Amino acid sequence: MTQQQNVVVAAEDIKRAQKPPAIPGGYIPIPRRSVLKSLEINGPERINAWLDSMRASSPTHPKSSSTPSQISQDHSSWILNHPSALDMFDQIMDASKGKKIVMFLDYDGTLSPIVDDPDRAFMSDSMRKTVRKLARCFPTAIVTGRCRDKVYNFVRLAELYYAGSHGMDIKGPTRTSKYNKDTKADPVLFQPAAQFLPLIDEVYQQLVEKTKSTPGARVENNKFCVSVHFRCVEEKEWSELAQQVRSVLKKYPKLRLSQGRKVLEIRPTIKWDKGKALEFLLESLGFANCSDVFPVYIGDDRTDEDAFKKLRDRGQGLGILVSKFPKDTNASYSLQEPTEVMDFLQRLVDWKKESLRARSRV
Ligand SMILES: [Mg+2]
Repeated sequence: MTQQQNVVVAAEDIKRAQKPPAIPGGYIPIPRRSVLKSLEINGPERINAWLDSMRASSPTHPKSSSTPSQISQDHSSWILNHPSALDMFDQIMDASKGKKIVMFLDYDGTLSPIVDDPDRAFMSDSMRKTVRKLARCFPTAIVTGRCRDKVYNFVRLAELYYAGSHGMDIKGPTRTSKYNKDTKADPVLFQPAAQFLPLIDEVYQQLVEKTKSTPGARVENNKFCVSVHFRCVEEKEWSELAQQVRSVLKKYPKLRLSQGRKVLEIRPTIKWDKGKALEFLLESLGFANCSDVFPVYIGDDRTDEDAFKKLRDRGQGLGILVSKFPKDTNASYSLQEPTEVMDFLQRLVDWKKESLRARSRV
């Protein structure tokens, strides 16, 4: 298994340690697709496995073989296991009682809609206002596969923590807040893969060249990782694109491939992911060994599963998956789309204000 580059499909060892609070009707187990454990870059039979994995993490429509009643049954079963965080808001707040809430938010597909051009994945003004209010109530971090500078240009809130490149580029707030009073501190907190920068540049150039012939393919340099977006590539071209990416990666055993929603992501083989970034940020915020912290992580794709799993393993807080379709996930709750995320964040702000008012009345 040395120097093996794998597509890591994170859902293989789903544990249900942190089930959502009991809901009427209880849990209905849903049949889980057999999930691909890992996909080698070398090996002739593997491209179909890549494709299956790309389709599983980027559903473009409900499974065509399912009848409408099966689709609705699958969805109802899934919702029972992963209820709406809006519907369960009061129960979630009860679970956080006496604990300090820390917020972790993915960007694409969570705070901004998935759009055809990743450079135009803008966040709405109302979402920005909501996140600003949220950051006044709770320490808040953006955790994204994107380059940190790029996501900062979308979000433009200096009071947040930013973990770019899947957490490989972490920076604290540049504007002081009640969670960050030390203005002299270096805001760059951690860059565990700094020595990979030249290699990432090189592979970026090669992927741009190699994927030129696939209409709609888009390669993005995210500083510590490279993303190959296929949101504008027709599904019949996905196989060709997977072949092209594989042919480049064969030459780079120090890089590995993971995947998100409509994106293939190339990263250093170091053991670092959004889950590790979450843990690092909790430690930076002074919650290293605290039992009274309640981290909430909201995200929409495979790479967020590392963070959901980390929360399950720690037995703290909870994960919320943003998805309209049933998906295998380590998250406990769901929200359908960014507008629901905004509603949930606003309710958190309202809840915090109300609890402060209630305390001042005592
Ligand atoms: Mg996302």
